[in-house]
Amino acid sequence: MNRFRELKREAWEANMDLPGQGLVRYTFGNVSALDRGRAVFAIKPSGVPYKALKPSDMVVVDMESRIVEGRLRPSSDTRTHAVMYRHFLEIGGVCHTHSACATAWAQAGRPIPLLGTTHADHLAFDIPCTSPLGDNAVKGDYEEETGLAIVKALKGLSCREIEMVLVACHGPFTWGDTAEKAVYNSVMLEEIARMAWMTLQIRPGAPRLRRALIDRHYLRKHGRDATYGQEKKK
Ligand SMILES: [Zn+2]
Repeated sequence: MNRFRELKREAWEANMDLPGQGLVRYTFGNVSALDRGRAVFAIKPSGVPYKALKPSDMVVVDMESRIVEGRLRPSSDTRTHAVMYRHFLEIGGVCHTHSACATAWAQAGRPIPLLGTTHADHLAFDIPCTSPLGDNAVKGDYEEETGLAIVKALKGLSCREIEMVLVACHGPFTWGDTAEKAVYNSVMLEEIARMAWMTLQIRPGAPRLRRALIDRHYLRKHGRDATYGQEKKK
């Protein structure tokens, strides 16, 4: 029964980070951690409060969301996570919350415009918002359709260039190399969403950041010649 102990612990730790970061209330939100070699991921069980959550409660499912190990029912968003892992081949973690500012943008159906360098430090594009799902998709395979809408929202950009998307009428999904990085991206997205909202309150119609500043900030953290942080010890 300990085949997935490390994977479950990784998923559990990332989930337990959400309340402390102020991103979730009660049982909202879920994070998963992927083991691509074994084609399984561990995800939070559905409806269990964070303070009662144990590493052994994490549910391990395969890429089609079938339970491989676990006593509890997996998060109701599991099928959305599975679609993302199947399409975004370089990611190792997915995080979903209903954090207030990012969700407000999602409910408004608006992408978050790139207004400042905090945003540009993380991605060089507006944060996309999906198109709203049609009634058939909502009544049909809703979670799968949500995942497909996220994939489509990238409009051909890679899952490395954009690691955060707003699902219209719903809320944010973020991802990264690991579950921990996916949570970090949710924290950053919430901060960027709050700043953009405040900026447009202070100055409606504030202009987008200039290309030179976008490149400067994005590339110093992500480019081939990134200079941010300390040099790695040889
Ligand atoms: Zn949700």
